[in-house]
Amino acid sequence: MGFPKDMVVKGIKEIGHNDVNALLELLLTYKALGDEGALGDCSTSGCACPNVQDDDDDDLDSDNWDNDNDTGGREHNSDSSGDEDFLKEMSAKDEKINLLVDMGFSEDEANMAMTTCGVDADLCVLVDSISASRVAGDCHSRNLFDDQVMDRCFDSFGEREKARLMEERKKKRKRYGGGSHGNRSSLDGSDDEQMHLPNPMVGFNLPGYRRPSVMRMLPQQAIGPPFFYYENVARTPRGVWETISRFLYDIEPEFVDSMHLSAAARKRGYIHNLPIENRSPLLPLPPKTIFEAFPHYKKWWPSWDPRRQLNCLQTTVASAKTTERIQCLLARSSNPPPPSVQKYVIDECRKWNLVWVGKNKVAPLEPNEVEYLLGFPRDHTRGVGKTERYKSLGNSFHVDTVAYHLSVLRDMFPNGVSVLSLFTGIGGGEVALHRLGIHMRAVVSVEIGEANRRILRGWWDQTQTGTLIEVADVKSLTPDIIASYVGRFGGFDLVIGGSPCNNLAGSNRHHRDGLEGEQSSLFYHYFRILDVVKSAMARM
Ligand code: SAH
Repeated sequence: MGFPKDMVVKGIKEIGHNDVNALLELLLTYKALGDEGALGDCSTSGCACPNVQDDDDDDLDSDNWDNDNDTGGREHNSDSSGDEDFLKEMSAKDEKINLLVDMGFSEDEANMAMTTCGVDADLCVLVDSISASRVAGDCHSRNLFDDQVMDRCFDSFGEREKARLMEERKKKRKRYGGGSHGNRSSLDGSDDEQMHLPNPMVGFNLPGYRRPSVMRMLPQQAIGPPFFYYENVARTPRGVWETISRFLYDIEPEFVDSMHLSAAARKRGYIHNLPIENRSPLLPLPPKTIFEAFPHYKKWWPSWDPRRQLNCLQTTVASAKTTERIQCLLARSSNPPPPSVQKYVIDECRKWNLVWVGKNKVAPLEPNEVEYLLGFPRDHTRGVGKTERYKSLGNSFHVDTVAYHLSVLRDMFPNGVSVLSLFTGIGGGEVALHRLGIHMRAVVSVEIGEANRRILRGWWDQTQTGTLIEVADVKSLTPDIIASYVGRFGGFDLVIGGSPCNNLAGSNRHHRDGLEGEQSSLFYHYFRILDVVKSAMARM
């Protein structure tokens, strides 16, 4: 019996080639899935059994999913292979070399750094590598890099503003001896080191988990007002969190996987200047397992599916083809199905967060179930298209986690807070404050997505009495506009936001161009705006 080459490659990609028997069994499964002749009469279950090879959606591609499930919901890309991959790699390499040359490094230096760090290395890492090989201890290149990025980000705000921020950066570098001091314990070490993500990922503390004796001393210039809270996906290309931390006053990120607080994983990093003592969770605590959250799924859950928690809730869901394929395969398998079928089905279920809704029948979670798992009120996103709902929910905060961190504000601001909410999305931060019982006197919300703005406005009008001001684009917030909001609301108590991670997360390395990516570089606007708010408030 022969198997098509593509099928063999896919099988090897999935389980490797060490266990020949397992590989053979998997290939037979694929063959059964794809070969209608071998499927027998499926018509009783009404399924058409799509052919694996002819699949025109890319959701069977296991590269489309991070096995570690920690890329978060914000981006979901498929990968390609073979020649195309090679060509993309070469053009990515050229692009980076050009960027480095533009920054003032020689082509030789750029090439050497690519050889040392790899084509995938983040630009910041490449710069650091060149810097290290130029003069030990000289941080000229890293500073040059920051300045280049700042240049790009602040170009539209005039020379005076840029000069002021550059000066600030210089002072900060001096204070921190080049940027790797402060209390960034977990990020310290050689620049070549992979970033260490803590395990368990419970941050400084979580209900039921406490890291022994966490004491943090914030650098002086990090201390508010205002309080600020920044969020992004935990797993990023190398150097990204170091850069974010360097810009946000050298504060150590707090990495939390929301699986320790709820039934679904969500690995995120948070940088903030809030106190970390005396936090309190939203009550009741959210369900921690699938069955606690949705007891009715127990009925059809097969004993061979060991999942008790869901993976990160993504921005996209499985197609009908995927669920049909699974139903078909199970309908013609023994009960329990052979190990290779079990593995295939469980992998797909993990990849797409599928739940058992009938005999042999799996389905994606409904948007209202995702809302529930993320801590939003039922129907929060209702009224926009289903695809849009999944996307916005996949990008959102995990409300209970964020609320736990923000809970310290409740006693500090009994009369309510004024909030500058950047990249508001569907208002995870606002919902967290509301659920904590913290009144929002005013929120200036900056969100580019029209559907998201509509969702927030709908919720606000139903639940809030304060002032909501909507702005579309962070780039439109000039220092004068920011200063006018600061004047109007007597300053902001909280600047909150998680900038897009489109160029940070995902398994497709060609899309992971790091913090300099088109979307992800919006982070620098978070820093820019926060900095302007701080200065304006200092003048009050
Ligand atoms: N924390 C949010 C989600 C953040 S995801 C929540 O709880 O829902 C990042 C958000 O940034 C997305 O909603 C995206 O639409 C928005 N965004 C992207 N570019 C933007 C820009 N230039 N100005 C303002 N918002 C932007």
